[in-house]
Amino acid sequence: MSSNDVRFSQRLTIEQVEEGHELAPKFDEHGLIACVTTAAGSGEVLMLGYMNAEALKKTILSGEAHYYSRSRKTLWHKGATSGLVQKVVEMRIDDDQDAVWLRVEIPGDASCHVGYRSCFYRSIPTGEGDQTRALRFEESEKSFDPSAVYGDAPNPTVL
Ligand SMILES: [Zn+2]
Repeated sequence: MSSNDVRFSQRLTIEQVEEGHELAPKFDEHGLIACVTTAAGSGEVLMLGYMNAEALKKTILSGEAHYYSRSRKTLWHKGATSGLVQKVVEMRIDDDQDAVWLRVEIPGDASCHVGYRSCFYRSIPTGEGDQTRALRFEESEKSFDPSAVYGDAPNPTVL
């Protein structure tokens, strides 16, 4: 194994996967593993993404978040276009190794391509309160202007 490769272990037993030291990620039927990404400082949830094996390896090797874009069907080095690279402070994997948690530092306090800090910038009213269920904006202003960063091209990550 060279220093620019990462080898994943075969998944053999529950004990090995849950209690052991071997990285044995479980990719779904599309070859993807879910990744929740939070801000290392505040703990705020920034985004939920997916990684294929290549994205997981590149994240481990580079210390910068790489994802797999399901809409574009391609490896996605987060921030390569916008400069909003996510520097990995800590990378964790869950008990059965089918989900990853990245704690990252982000420049300019912005992560979301819409211009907000977190992709989760709106809340959905729950319970008896606001029965219109109109989405509420939880960030009062954008951290950056997306059109200044991306130009006027329609963002390919969404539609
Ligand atoms: Zn977003």
